[in-house]
Amino acid sequence: MYGWVIPPPKPPTKTPAEFARERQRKVKELEARGLLSSPRLKAAMLKVPREAFIPDLYRDYAYLEVPLPLPGEATISCPHSYPLFYEALGLDAGHRFLEVGAGSGYGAALAWEVVGPVGLVVTMEIDPETFAFARDNLKALGYEQVEVVLGDGSLGYPPRAPFDRICFTAAAPAVPPPLLTQLAPGGRLIGPVGQPHWVQDLVLMIRQDTDKFQRVVVETVAYIPLRGQYGFSD
Ligand code: SAH
Repeated sequence: MYGWVIPPPKPPTKTPAEFARERQRKVKELEARGLLSSPRLKAAMLKVPREAFIPDLYRDYAYLEVPLPLPGEATISCPHSYPLFYEALGLDAGHRFLEVGAGSGYGAALAWEVVGPVGLVVTMEIDPETFAFARDNLKALGYEQVEVVLGDGSLGYPPRAPFDRICFTAAAPAVPPPLLTQLAPGGRLIGPVGQPHWVQDLVLMIRQDTDKFQRVVVETVAYIPLRGQYGFSD
């Protein structure tokens, strides 16, 4: 699917110490590749145990650069995609952050570590099974202040708008207009735009103080399709 080779499911064997070593190696690799530089995100990636956001039968593969299947119609994105998104966003302490596509909850946990207790993290998930998985993972690790919302994130989340930073982690035909509306002046939004089941442009939108947006293509990426009103299916 999407050109990725998913490793075969198998019961987990690795110890917490092995996962911790793999996590440290991954962070060093991401720094060396020039993908990770901000100290807060680096600390977050060293702290959040990615393996705790992955179903048992794929847990041993937590630090491989492959997306892995989750309950529902979802995948956890590969490790480097999080710094790719969050460094481009300039995600920082105190930001009000909206993630569309909670998936495993891993991206929301990283974001929470970056924005800190004076910030806000809302993560939305449209698939009820995936939503329950993300919610339970975040709760089990103590991220109770992350707001996990079941619903169509292509409509944004008006009760908590405006947001300083927004990301959507599924491929959309165009940037969903409600997300642009819910972006604070000076805010930034990022997500994959283009055809699903192929590659998309990772598009960064920077809202100027006026109602103008600067559009930058950061990378080429491959994501599963966004659903909902501004996605590919309702
Ligand atoms: N960021 C996630 C990975 C996302 S995979 C992680 O860290 O694991 C993309 C996710 O977007 C899937 O879980 C899918 O169900 C969800 N999704 C797709 N369309 C959506 C929509 N309109 N609103 C909210 N979630 C959506």
